[in-house]
Amino acid sequence: MPLDILLLGPQGSGKGTQAKRISAEYGIPHIATGDMLRAAVAEGSEVGREVASILESGGLVRDDLIVELIRERLGRGDTDPGFILDGFPRTTGQAEALDAMLSEIGRSLTIVFELQVDDAVAVERLTKRAREQSRADDTPEAIGRRLELYHRETEPLVEYYRIRGNVIGIHGERPEGEVFAEIQEALEALPREETAA
Ligand code: AMP
Repeated sequence: MPLDILLLGPQGSGKGTQAKRISAEYGIPHIATGDMLRAAVAEGSEVGREVASILESGGLVRDDLIVELIRERLGRGDTDPGFILDGFPRTTGQAEALDAMLSEIGRSLTIVFELQVDDAVAVERLTKRAREQSRADDTPEAIGRRLELYHRETEPLVEYYRIRGNVIGIHGERPEGEVFAEIQEALEALPREETAA
């Protein structure tokens, strides 16, 4: 059985960091729509030109564009043993499209992690990252907009997945090693055939 993982949590909750560690440990690709979109902007592709100002303002790119990006990405062979989704889905429409895509290929999400951090901590971490990386959307206005959209559009997905099965809440305001250990514990507790890729 493939290991199909979704990480939910606001910007600044440590999703990217944890996704990279899971990817290295379990040999499955880390799929981050934010990274894919930033790469498109950097390349100056048609998609990149369309989304650049949306990314900068902290708004959400339209569902159909994101869903196509993910459909193409999940179609690549490296996802056969599983994948880690980071930053997608962000809306109920995207979650429904993902369900449909996965069920077409006889798959469903194995486990969903929700990394929980307070807004104040998220803002503090994003502000620190702004100093270190100068990301275009780490301005105070865009940070506020992204957190507002997270609460409005993305947080309801916790409930969406809870009623479908396997959501694990993780306290994210801890050192990354501790958070990762808890994620690993949950993955090791899965029925054996789910982790034997
Ligand atoms: P992230 O790196 O996940 O914080 O994403 C950076 C930006 O990319 C977001 O603020 C959105 O503008 C855009 N983005 C990334 N993923 C999605 C998505 N699933 N749906 C809509 N917009 C997205």
